Amino acid sequence: MGRKGTDVVHIGRRSWWSGKVRTLCGLVYLPGNEQEQGWFTRITCPACKAAEKRGVRL
Ligand SMILES: [Zn+2]
Repeated sequence: MGRKGTDVVHIGRRSWWSGKVRTLCGLVYLPGNEQEQGWFTRITCPACKAAEKRGVRL
């Protein structure tokens, strides 16, 4: 395995009613298609970081 340099980790929240994961930067992962490698462990997506700084809430 290993971490690819191009991978980014987003700040996301899974919808309890649809199972979809929506990220702060506007991406949506369908159920079963999301990356399970820790949504909140190490955020590397610049857009998500920027949105968090602006106080964007999911
Ligand atoms: Zn993002």
